[in-house]
Amino acid sequence: MEILRAEKMGFCFGVKEAIKTAEQVSEEYCNSKIYILGMLVHNKEVMKEMSERGILILEEENLEKLNSEDVVIVRAHGTTEEIYKKLKDKNVKIFDSACVFVKKSRNLLKNKEESGKKIIFVGDKEHPEVIGIISHGKNVITVADFEEFKKIEIDKNISYYVLAQTTLNKNSFNDIKEYIEKNYSNIEVGDTICGATYERQKAVEKLAGIVDIMLIVGGYNSSNSKKLLNISKQLNEKSYLIETKEDLKMEWMKGCSKVGITAGASTPEKSIQEIEKLLKEESRDGKHGKF
Ligand code: SF4
Repeated sequence: MEILRAEKMGFCFGVKEAIKTAEQVSEEYCNSKIYILGMLVHNKEVMKEMSERGILILEEENLEKLNSEDVVIVRAHGTTEEIYKKLKDKNVKIFDSACVFVKKSRNLLKNKEESGKKIIFVGDKEHPEVIGIISHGKNVITVADFEEFKKIEIDKNISYYVLAQTTLNKNSFNDIKEYIEKNYSNIEVGDTICGATYERQKAVEKLAGIVDIMLIVGGYNSSNSKKLLNISKQLNEKSYLIETKEDLKMEWMKGCSKVGITAGASTPEKSIQEIEKLLKEESRDGKHGKF
């Protein structure tokens, strides 16, 4: 059996920075209560390591339990304007691990709105990143995809600015961009899909079609991992999202000799290596028949 890795996969810049911050804070403030607002990144393994360091998870609805000696780390996908304000009012020490791409999107939204443009945001309305970013605007139109975008009643007398969730599928966003260029001169489009997301999407496109099975290692709640799965599925119906080696089902491997692996931006290398090790052992021992 051959295991082929995608050219770009696993931890992105923003996640590495957030984890580094959490590690430093846990050493520097070892006598304080340290909280992470929500999940630092959407990955169970990473969050387990954080909890072993004594870092606690703080849900947004439980801010009342904070006191001024506490330390709060804001996750890579940021939070809402209201929560930032509440944290400041609580006078806690704040470490904002919101990724630079999320901050860029947030600032663009504010600047463009201030300049008089109406904002259209393309992304998952339920995702914390989207909820956080759009909270910094006054009256943002949010759409999930191209289909929803086409249903917006565009007023030709108003100027619009389009922003996208950092993890949106670049190809889907390009469809929206082309449609706008063909039909509207009053809509400007900003490029806020992050480079790490795009590189990982391109790499899975390259790999999924030439292997017998694709494994996407990532959190079930991770937006960018789910996007990798969708892209992979379009090219290879044997595409599976798994979080840890325990989720791997050996019956998927029947008849497969080439296994492709990729991983979401919040997946630690350790999880990927454990899966590769298990695959090699199972293939060698022939426990489940030859793959
Ligand atoms: Fe930042 Fe992109 Fe990583 Fe999200 S996926 S944390 S936007 S680098």
